[in-house]
Amino acid sequence: MPQAERGQVLTEEQFLRLAAYGEAEQVEPGWNLYSTGDDSYDLFLLLTAEVDIVLEPDHVIYRTLPGDFLGELSLLTGQHVYLTARVVAAGTVVRIDAERLRRALAEQVDIADVLLTAFRDRREAIRSAAGGALEIIGHPDSAATLALRTYVEQLLLPHTFREADSADDDLPAAIVNGSSLRRATPGTLAEALGLTYRPGDRPVDLVVVGAGPAGLAAAVSGASEGLVTVLLDRSGIGGQAAKSARIENYLGFPEGVSGLHLARLAMVQALKFGVRIHAPCAVASLDLSDERRPVVVLENGERIPCRAVIAATGAQYRRLDIPGWARFEKSGCIRYAATESDVRGYENHPVTVVGGANSAGQAALSLAANGAHVDLVIRGHDLKLRMSSYLADRILAHPRIRVHTGGTILELAGDDVLTSIVVESSERLPSRALFCFVGADPVSGWLAGVATADDGFIRTESSLPFQTSAPRVFAVGDLRSGSTKRVATAVGEGASAVSSVHTALAGD
Ligand SMILES: Cc1cc2nc3c(=O)[nH]c(=O)nc-3n(C[C@H](O)[C@H](O)[C@H](O)COP(=O)(O)OP(=O)(O)OC[C@H]3O[C@@H](n4cnc5c(N)ncnc54)[C@H](O)[C@@H]3O)c2cc1C
Repeated sequence: MPQAERGQVLTEEQFLRLAAYGEAEQVEPGWNLYSTGDDSYDLFLLLTAEVDIVLEPDHVIYRTLPGDFLGELSLLTGQHVYLTARVVAAGTVVRIDAERLRRALAEQVDIADVLLTAFRDRREAIRSAAGGALEIIGHPDSAATLALRTYVEQLLLPHTFREADSADDDLPAAIVNGSSLRRATPGTLAEALGLTYRPGDRPVDLVVVGAGPAGLAAAVSGASEGLVTVLLDRSGIGGQAAKSARIENYLGFPEGVSGLHLARLAMVQALKFGVRIHAPCAVASLDLSDERRPVVVLENGERIPCRAVIAATGAQYRRLDIPGWARFEKSGCIRYAATESDVRGYENHPVTVVGGANSAGQAALSLAANGAHVDLVIRGHDLKLRMSSYLADRILAHPRIRVHTGGTILELAGDDVLTSIVVESSERLPSRALFCFVGADPVSGWLAGVATADDGFIRTESSLPFQTSAPRVFAVGDLRSGSTKRVATAVGEGASAVSSVHTALAGD
């Protein structure tokens, strides 16, 4: 029977220090400390008992022994329990509930380091072993399947993927602990997993809307500085940054870093400080009738009263008004991201990228690095006008990338899948997929009544940095009018806005 790869362990002294946060209990063989499907669970320290971690009905993933602790990332995310902890040798355990665990993480930094590293390592280690707890079935190229897979990847959810062998209107489907979810979306899956918004027991100080780099940074700063912080995102985590396989201009990563990796690290950091993260969880509007108590209204009608809101909903790329667009989008031939899974599968095939900023440049290079033949179409005549020169230089030198300047896309051709693209002032370009990064619009529809610039981006010209025209509502990152649309600036703005939040709340 497999034994837990011990990985990170607490020293005896740390173990006892942590045990002081909980209550000792005697347990007997056959008892379940927690079971698949439970809403939540506690952290357990094993003083003398032995416990099997089981994927129901009877697959033992590993055995834990005296001196070990039970738990992984779901302890902090609030996800429904997907494994069972079954006592196999009687003894004593110490139970530490979620609230006390958060206190321990805040007060005992060396213990927090061990637990968080272990939670993350365990999530990685059990992703395949516990994959049976969540199975996704669908056609790999369909946009709906891709959205579902992107969501589970972003949140590091253990799962397996099975390619469907026939067409079926009920796909994609998700099997969650044996129950089937037809036409699954990130929203219905989150509901089944317990990741949608549930009111907590403490009043909320700060709601951060949008979990891209700006929102993640704001949430980490807010929670680490003592604010009860909730972070909401309508899709997953990482925002636009999670769509880039390689960010090279973010400080501290000389070899570049995938946006998804950066976002996952930030998510764990936010959880460590006690941020409650809910995704997908779309915000529909703000109720600002009480100036000192903004209320965030979710799409499902739920209301979250708080003391301040940081809006970090970024920007999104425009769709082009061309016949067939929606059809090719649905079949996965049009993409707005360049993650590792987006750029794979085009080796020796032609693809087109449209757009002249860094996002398009990153996508073109990632596709070419994966063996695709890339046509990059830009409207202007100078690649370096909107693109960082380190990217433009590499593109111009790349043997598998052709640049078409002064180009506008006129037509998409193909039946079920894309075969070619007609570009004004250029030849017909054979193309298996179109990667679209043109004209980012602010995602500001939910901020009705808050002052915007002419282009729709949110203005922040109050005497308090990052405050919008609405008191206690702040805007950061790509959403903010005049911001530099980069990961580093988004992170800096998110973190900085929290000091303005403190100033605004100081008189309460
Ligand atoms: C492919 C690509 C490559 C890139 N490469 C680079 C690079 O190499 N270097 C660089 O510096 N920058 C790069 N960028 C730009 C960079 O990613 C953005 O500037 C940065 O992500 C902006 O961060 P943000 O948090 O302000 O907004 P976003 O990243 O746009 O995040 C906004 C978040 O808000 C959520 N949201 C929107 N509406 C709602 C709502 N109503 N309710 C709840 N949540 C909502 C969205 O789901 C999203 O997760 C790239 C962008 C792309 C697309």
